[in-house]
Amino acid sequence: MIEFKKPKKGVLIGLCCIGAVLLLAAAAAIAFFTNKFHVEIALKGDAEITLEYGQTYQEAGAEAFYRGTHFMKEGWALEVSQEGAVDEKKVGTYTIVYSAEKWGENASAKRTVHIVDTVKPELTLKGDKEISITRGNKFEEPGFTATDNYDGDLAAKVAISGEVDTDNAGTYTLTYTVEDSSGNTAKAERTVTVKAPAVVKQPQPITVIPGEKTVYLTFDDGPGPYTAKLLDILGKYNVKATFFVCDHSNYNHLLTRIASEGHAIGVHSASHNYDKIYASEEAFFKDFYQMQDLIYNKTGIRTTLCRFPGGSSNLVSRFNPGIVTRLSKELTDRGFQYFDWNVSSGDAGETTSTSQVARNVKNGMARNGVSIVLQHDIKNFSVNAVEEIIQWGLANGYTFKALDATSPTAHHGINN
Ligand SMILES: [Zn+2]
Repeated sequence: MIEFKKPKKGVLIGLCCIGAVLLLAAAAAIAFFTNKFHVEIALKGDAEITLEYGQTYQEAGAEAFYRGTHFMKEGWALEVSQEGAVDEKKVGTYTIVYSAEKWGENASAKRTVHIVDTVKPELTLKGDKEISITRGNKFEEPGFTATDNYDGDLAAKVAISGEVDTDNAGTYTLTYTVEDSSGNTAKAERTVTVKAPAVVKQPQPITVIPGEKTVYLTFDDGPGPYTAKLLDILGKYNVKATFFVCDHSNYNHLLTRIASEGHAIGVHSASHNYDKIYASEEAFFKDFYQMQDLIYNKTGIRTTLCRFPGGSSNLVSRFNPGIVTRLSKELTDRGFQYFDWNVSSGDAGETTSTSQVARNVKNGMARNGVSIVLQHDIKNFSVNAVEEIIQWGLANGYTFKALDATSPTAHHGINN
């Protein structure tokens, strides 16, 4: 009889153990042969960074490992190579690519860095933000500065909107704007108030004060070839005179000398062209301000003194009826003083004789307590009479003065 013995307990446990080991070994083998190695890369710091222009970019780098999926999960560190750079001095978007490679496996990551400029330019007005001028005077833009942290000097890009109508009283706003290359804008405002002249200095009619002996020598139509000689004569006797001037490009440098030597300077006319300037108020003032500007450019003086070409009593303007009446009112309203004369030297057609000019002036001076003498410094024979006039005047107790805004005007009376 075959006796089936029950297997001993120990043998059973042993069999089980062998089975388990085999299973584990099989599993380990599967794991080993399916283990995949790969490269992993990770950025240090943010993948997208925005920096204001002027800030420093700190390169944080990246780290990379060669790892297995089942084994070698810790892996080992790889060297990371980097492509691309950030130019902190230039606004823009930069991409930096980090990559690592091992045994045919590789990985990469990228970082985007924005260098931005969000700082607006600095726009500063020169001069006052509130300016007040008298109607009829010119508004001079005092200027501005504009600088930007990124673009530098932007003064040339400043745009001004708004206008000042100097012919009409009112308050005008000028708006200044500037934009930098990143689109940041700065804005400033200036208000200009054009006022009606409150108190126009009223020139005085000539009043005869007994015993007064004042002479205003005035010279029209220059500067010209004899003006320098005239200035030498006036300077020799320290006599101040008044010049009603025109635009003569070859001699305009003498405007500077006239003013620097203490003589008064007034607007006569840029063109002295009767047909042109008396054609309309607009034409007159265009020519007038052109001359005033020229004087200002040469002397720094914005003169308010003037003399009508032909005088205020002229008939040469009769082709435009009433023009001098309108202009004389408008000039006064705009704060100007116009002067005529009560002593004519006769140098404008009556005579070409130096001694006759001197005689005419001396006779006129003797007749008046206050004289405004008309001569033309573009006429040599007339300039040549000046020394005799001065010598005679000084010897006879006359005082020579330059005109100013409150001097007598010797208005002739308007005929048109
Ligand atoms: Zn003239």
